[in-house]
Amino acid sequence: MKPLQLNVLNFPVYIAPTFWLLAGVIGMLYSNTPMTGAGISANLGPIFIYGVAVFLSILVHELGHALAWRRYGHAPQILLHGMGGRTSVQVARDRMPGPKQRLVVTLAGPGFGLALGLSIVGLTQGLSMMGLWPDMPLLSDFAMAMIWINIGWSIFNMVPLLPLDGGHAVEAAVSWAGKDGRKVALWVSVLSAAGFLALAATSGDLFFALIAFMFGGQSVRELATSYQATRDKPLFQELQRDFELIRLGDAQKADAFRAAARDFTSRSSLPQWTATIAVMWMDVAMNQGEVDDAAEAFLRLPQGANPPEAMLRRLLADLRSDGSPDAYAKAADRAHALTGDARYTLDGARAHMRTGELAEAAGLLLEAIEGGATNLWQVEHDEEFEPLVSSDVWEELKAEVRDMAR
Ligand SMILES: [Zn+2]
Repeated sequence: MKPLQLNVLNFPVYIAPTFWLLAGVIGMLYSNTPMTGAGISANLGPIFIYGVAVFLSILVHELGHALAWRRYGHAPQILLHGMGGRTSVQVARDRMPGPKQRLVVTLAGPGFGLALGLSIVGLTQGLSMMGLWPDMPLLSDFAMAMIWINIGWSIFNMVPLLPLDGGHAVEAAVSWAGKDGRKVALWVSVLSAAGFLALAATSGDLFFALIAFMFGGQSVRELATSYQATRDKPLFQELQRDFELIRLGDAQKADAFRAAARDFTSRSSLPQWTATIAVMWMDVAMNQGEVDDAAEAFLRLPQGANPPEAMLRRLLADLRSDGSPDAYAKAADRAHALTGDARYTLDGARAHMRTGELAEAAGLLLEAIEGGATNLWQVEHDEEFEPLVSSDVWEELKAEVRDMAR
């Protein structure tokens, strides 16, 4: 299902299907509807009323953020989803909002919600005192729902726990004071999460535990990454400097560089830095003619990181002429997985010929032929595959290639 799109005050508002689920569930909880078919149909009116109140309350909250963004010259959009809402803007680098603007934008959401909730309190109280409040149970239900949801949602959002508004407010305020706002906000979030855990333990309410683990977990992970970065940065920079010196001709540093790079890539948990150093290590090792070591560096690349293509081709070519069969096989396997290039499967087949694993080699060879990297004629005339061509496996392989061609 595609999100529904509305236009409110000239802001695009997208409503994900999961949002209706949220509205419905909250509607059922507020109207004390039993979770059975009969209970639901008897209670459709109140569920609908509460669902509408959820929609309006979250929308007003997001409109608060959106109007504040507009005030600073941005064009935000609003998304309502199964966990609430989000207002986002696309900001060019040179127009990044400062901490003061971010603080205003953040506070505007709960501010609007609180103002709406309190106005409805004032309105209903005033009208009832004057005897003007109509005697309509559904209208009273709706007013009560608007009051509770608006005030409740605003207060909940001001808990200093990222990614709630309260967490962002701490971040912006501390940054405004010239300190590392992100780090302080993360630590405050961890404390808040601990508070939620304590609440969950004393009240037995799983909702609090869920909030603590979901949001607190994110903060703990981000903090861990930032401390690792602080710890690893000096060595990372030193390795980059040494790499430059080696490229400029200081060959004496190469051995020490490879050892330090091996150490760095085995303990750094920042994928980008690990990838940068692993590629440098590959380069240094290849230039020293240490091809197995270059293969090891290649295998240290984190998931999703690719070395430059020319470098990878050179590595496989070097391994083919000078590498150990084991390093050659592992590198070919990884190169194929990374690029999907059948030529690396052919390398894998060669490597397995060298380790004497004919069945493995035949399997990879079949894949390489299927991928168009070679053909039966070429294989038959390739010395390296001679033991395979003269074995029993060869006839089976030819039969499979013929099947493939049909
Ligand atoms: Zn908000």
